[in-house]
Amino acid sequence: MASIPLPVALGVVAAVVLLELLRRIAMVQRDVRRLAISEARFRAIVQNSTDAILIVDPDGELRYVTPSADSLFGETKRRSLFALTHPEDGAVAERFLQQVRRSTGMPVVEEWRMRRPDGSWLWIENTGTNLLLEPTVSGIVVNARDVSERHSLEAQLTHQAYHDELTRLANRALFLNRVTRAVGRRGHEVHPAAVLFLDLDDFKKVNDSLGHAVGDELLVAAAARLTSFVRPGDTIARLGGDEFAILLEGAVDPQSVTNIAGRIAEGLRAPFRVSGRDVFVSVSIGIADVSHGDTPDDVVRNADLAMYFAKARAKGRFVVYERQMHARVMERLELEADLRRAVDRASFFVEYQPIVHLTSGLMYGAEALLRWRHPERGLVPPSEFVALAEDTGLIVPLSRVVLREACERATEWRSRQRRDRKLRLSVNLSPRHFQESTVVEDVREALARSGLPSPMLTLEITESVLMQEGAVTLDKLRALKSLGLQLALDDFGTGYSSLGYLQRFPIDILKIDRTFVEPIGSLGVDPAIARAIVALGRSLHIETIAEGIERPEQREGLLSLGCSLGQGFLFAQSMSAEAFVAIMVDTPRSLSIVQMYAPSPGSASIVS
Ligand code: C2E
Ligand code: CA
Ligand code: CA
Repeated sequence: MASIPLPVALGVVAAVVLLELLRRIAMVQRDVRRLAISEARFRAIVQNSTDAILIVDPDGELRYVTPSADSLFGETKRRSLFALTHPEDGAVAERFLQQVRRSTGMPVVEEWRMRRPDGSWLWIENTGTNLLLEPTVSGIVVNARDVSERHSLEAQLTHQAYHDELTRLANRALFLNRVTRAVGRRGHEVHPAAVLFLDLDDFKKVNDSLGHAVGDELLVAAAARLTSFVRPGDTIARLGGDEFAILLEGAVDPQSVTNIAGRIAEGLRAPFRVSGRDVFVSVSIGIADVSHGDTPDDVVRNADLAMYFAKARAKGRFVVYERQMHARVMERLELEADLRRAVDRASFFVEYQPIVHLTSGLMYGAEALLRWRHPERGLVPPSEFVALAEDTGLIVPLSRVVLREACERATEWRSRQRRDRKLRLSVNLSPRHFQESTVVEDVREALARSGLPSPMLTLEITESVLMQEGAVTLDKLRALKSLGLQLALDDFGTGYSSLGYLQRFPIDILKIDRTFVEPIGSLGVDPAIARAIVALGRSLHIETIAEGIERPEQREGLLSLGCSLGQGFLFAQSMSAEAFVAIMVDTPRSLSIVQMYAPSPGSASIVS
């Protein structure tokens, strides 16, 4: 086999190597060409995209932006993504880049605020794709979409969901959120926050008498005034109707909380100018510290409960929550349930307390007083159930029954009386019953059914009745008067006494409250109020009847003041109708000063 000479062999090898080299060069050239084409294609695609696209370095430096991105963000050349980002959103942008750098293929989406050319801010939804290893791009592609409109709608909806439309204050949901946050800080601070629960007093009256538009205006004005009493970080909310709540935050010690509550109660008393008139309201406030109560709801409920006590005590006041309030409310609720049941059963009856001529001790008349015999608790005093019956409206049916029953009894007595004794019957007319449109008819019917001559009947009303809306009240009082009966003003001097009433309303009798009779006859005490009431009555030709006379000195004192009628334990307690008849008929002598009649045990019930 002939051997190939060495030079030839070398030449062949060189040629092969050369060919291979050329082939490789050609390949690289083709790749470069292909790369150039695909890059141009990529550029063409993004260039013409209506989406705003930014290509950034791993650290956020802008390498390339599309024309639509330019128009969205303005002159963006040579800036970084961060320069376009809202100062508060830097962390979001940073997190976004981090996530994109780590991701392989999966796009990452984040929203944050970015600057517009005019300096305003847009909400941008950025979608980032990691193309760092893609040779044509070797960058992070960010698709930016303006979602500001959606955001503002969302913000609007959120605002709506968390705010009261009328007053623009926070609503219950937002308030509870804030309380929840405050409750969460309980471990770190002693008094992290306190809740004030506010309820406008007698707001319903404003609504009823001046109309809802004025009522709304008043709520808005009250809301505005409330904001002036608290610090900017505190939350004021309208929980509904005329109920507001305030969350006082940041180490609020009990003393400063009650100070603020006092200032609010005082501050709301000044008149509100609404629809060209001055409207007066007051507010009752309950206070609860967030350290009491387990949940945010509990805290608000505690404040609500305290408010309820504030209202019961005296309107326009504040009360701090105490644990035993729950028990007291439970008791009241039970009593209320019992009362509801009792109205349908035979557990109510009427007793009669004689009213006498103070000089002679002879009987002038009687006051009908409602009694409730509770199946377990025995006799429940009216001081415990009348107000409750009033609040719940249960007093209305009861009041009708008392009226009917008492008129019937009084008619019976008349038939047994000696002709010269015309006993007057006094019946307490509940303010709630007075509000009923049927009240005049109820009275007329009780008189007609029983046959009692109307001059024999006196209706005792309280000052709160006169406080109700002027024109209607006056009409009703006149209608009642036109039946021929008498009107007495009960507990005179204990309510919102205004002497103006006495001239405006057709009142025949003033009843001097026991608290003013109490000091009479005590050494060194001047019964100034009793004296003034008697004098007032005399000058207006209004009769006065003293209540709660227990001691002979009081009787004498009253006589010397010029008051000649009265009732009290000195003469007789209230008693059953039968017992009353007995002393009236069988005892011709007057109710002597020493004679005392105790109530009889077996009184008949009035509801059957
Ligand atoms: P009121 O109308 O001021 O009735 C007088 C109250 O004073 C009665 O209490 C009577 O028993 C009590 N009283 C009379 N003399 C004396 C006395 O010498 N000393 C003392 N300590 N008290 C005396 P009562 O029967 O407990 O009634 C309390 C209140 O309940 C009444 O006050 C009245 O506001 C209300 N009430 C009673 N019955 C009715 C009713 O049928 N309808 C309405 N709406 N309210 C009623
Ligand atoms: Ca009375
Ligand atoms: Ca009274």
